[in-house]
Amino acid sequence: MADRGNRIAVFGAGYVGLVTGACFAELGHRVTVRDVIPARIEALRRGEVPIFEPGLEDLLERNRERLSFTLDVAEAIDGAEFVYVAVGTPPTYSGDADLSAVWTVIDELPAVDHRVVVAMKSTVPVGTGEKVRHRLDERGLAHVGYVSNPEFTAEGTAVRDFMEPDRIVVGAFDEADGDAVEGLHRGIEAPVVRSDVASAEMIKLAANAALMTRISFINEIANVCEATGADVVKVAEGIGHDRRIGKSFLRAGVGFGGSCFPKDSLALKQLAASSGYHFQVLNAVIEVNELQKRRVIGKLKQRLGALRGKRIALLGLAFKPNTDDTREAPAFVLAGRLLAEGADVVAWDPVAHADGLHGVEQVGTVDEATRGADAVVLVTEWPELADVDWAAVAAQMRTPLFVDGRNMLDPETMRAAGFTYDGIGRAAAVER
Ligand code: NAD
Repeated sequence: MADRGNRIAVFGAGYVGLVTGACFAELGHRVTVRDVIPARIEALRRGEVPIFEPGLEDLLERNRERLSFTLDVAEAIDGAEFVYVAVGTPPTYSGDADLSAVWTVIDELPAVDHRVVVAMKSTVPVGTGEKVRHRLDERGLAHVGYVSNPEFTAEGTAVRDFMEPDRIVVGAFDEADGDAVEGLHRGIEAPVVRSDVASAEMIKLAANAALMTRISFINEIANVCEATGADVVKVAEGIGHDRRIGKSFLRAGVGFGGSCFPKDSLALKQLAASSGYHFQVLNAVIEVNELQKRRVIGKLKQRLGALRGKRIALLGLAFKPNTDDTREAPAFVLAGRLLAEGADVVAWDPVAHADGLHGVEQVGTVDEATRGADAVVLVTEWPELADVDWAAVAAQMRTPLFVDGRNMLDPETMRAAGFTYDGIGRAAAVER
């Protein structure tokens, strides 16, 4: 693709920053990605990708000439027309978003004398743009523009999501800055939603809240299905055909995790509360999700009795397939509960690590994880689990109990393989 000559500095070489940088390079821009972790920048310079994200390695390789990596702020900003902020905004103890990394980027911005547009990719509370605008003005940087350009990519499909988004949201104080950021996306076919900065910030939070609401909704339907003998997979199929409802995010399971949903739901809850509003639906969504992660324990106890000394195999540590991200992963909550119950926990994941999960034994194969186990819990629906010889697995377990936390496998096939199979909200879970 032709070099259009736009110079972009991306702050943050994480999941969002790297995908943003690589995709903008693919669109023909020259991109410098800056991070504060030396090992990360050195790895990127060597051509190694520090995170697991399908398609990213190829994209970085293909656009090597248009990409550079640095630890140095001045080097990143040198000649840049756009500064993308893609640093982490994790939750604080209060549930508010920790914006310290965002403020560091803003405060470290050199006193540029040319027009630069700061574009916020990080997910931030509504009102952040207004505060950044003031801070820039106070520093005599009124000529530096500010645009909210939130990110909707999902880990595991982030490259495709960036290049083929459902929409691009651009919220600007100054229309010309909004036009410039919109122009960076030339080559991408998608509706562009132009708005004020506060609305763009809220679009991101509201989109995540809507998706989480669907997940908690279908999980509650699943729980009622379990109590009544209905099958949530059929129910989801039946309601998903309704065009007013749609099919996506109607998969019952052990709850949502990841680096975004849990923190963004807390941040929106806090934002509403500190604005004097009690966000009832969101509070319920969060509570349902917390309880959902623990329901598997009840299922195991129902079949095995006390879990002390029982060997439980967790299949999957990542919060979802095709990522190595374990932030807020349901598997970690489950492992913590199982360990507290006195169970021996062994875990398998093709890419994610049980770092920080003290007491959990991580092994390299499903075979090792399940040998002699009292139960298997499928926590992450990794595609390779579809190809496992489940009859062989059942045969080598102490008790062939299978709890399918993602309703990934066919109940009848699993029963035929020799398992006592329990899913989430499956009709046959009532068979006992
Ligand atoms: P991440 O933790 O993977 O990456 C953040 C990176 O920023 C880290 O490498 C960190 O070292 C770096 N950093 C910290 N301070 C810095 C500084 N002053 N200058 C340069 N780099 C700095 O985070 P992420 O998952 O990429 O998320 C980034 C933001 O995007 C968050 O606000 C998140 O909510 C939002 N978001 C994430 C996703 C996702 O799928 N992960 C999707 C949409 C939005």
